[in-house]
Amino acid sequence: MSTLYIVATPIGNLSDFSPRAVNILNSVDQIACEDTRTSSVLLQHYQIEKPTFSFHQHNEHHKVKHLINLLNGGSSVAIISDAGMPGISDPGFLATRAAHQQGHTVSAIPGPDAATTALAASGLPSDRYIYEGFLPPKKGRETRIRQIADADLTSVIYVSPHKLVRFLERLSTFAEPDRFVCVARELTKKFEEIQRGSLDSLTKEWQHRDAVKGEIVVIVAGKTYSE
Ligand code: SAM
Repeated sequence: MSTLYIVATPIGNLSDFSPRAVNILNSVDQIACEDTRTSSVLLQHYQIEKPTFSFHQHNEHHKVKHLINLLNGGSSVAIISDAGMPGISDPGFLATRAAHQQGHTVSAIPGPDAATTALAASGLPSDRYIYEGFLPPKKGRETRIRQIADADLTSVIYVSPHKLVRFLERLSTFAEPDRFVCVARELTKKFEEIQRGSLDSLTKEWQHRDAVKGEIVVIVAGKTYSE
């Protein structure tokens, strides 16, 4: 039996890569990368020279077979994504399930992920929360936004920059203007920004910005929360 390692990588700041993650990547036979070119920056920075192959959401079904063949043949494999924890709004789940089903050992090497980093920085209740990840682009999007507005628990949502204003505006149609929200942008990077306030004030703030850039997590407090 072989081992599949699920290795978290930095969400922006390369120094957040753990020494254990470096050791694991240096010890495996192959590294499955969401994007081999993106990962090459990290691998070169840490002088990790191992064979890589691409493993992304469009070829994951097909590449799971390849990955399982490698494990069956006695090779150890690590999965890394472009940023953060593989399998968390990133490829990894199918391979991890298949590796378990085939009787291989699965070991996750923890590290940064955008959701819990944003949640921890938000100062909003984090004892229980709902991880929404990305909302569906069309079908079902409205229902999910309504559910977030109705939720008693804190919700954590991954939002593309070009959808941030529309998301806040849509949420405003279902939630009260004083609903507490946090927008966490470019976490761990040079232009990191953590804004908190009412839904109304943050919507206005982002409507007036020239352009919305960078990577964003939105945290929406439960509907009964107030400060
Ligand atoms: N697997 C990753 C994780 O563990 O968080 C998530 C990958 S998902 C494809 C990418 C999304 O994560 C971005 O669109 C953004 O919502 C969020 N994200 C990633 N890096 C971030 C950062 N440095 N600051 C804020 N959000 C980030």
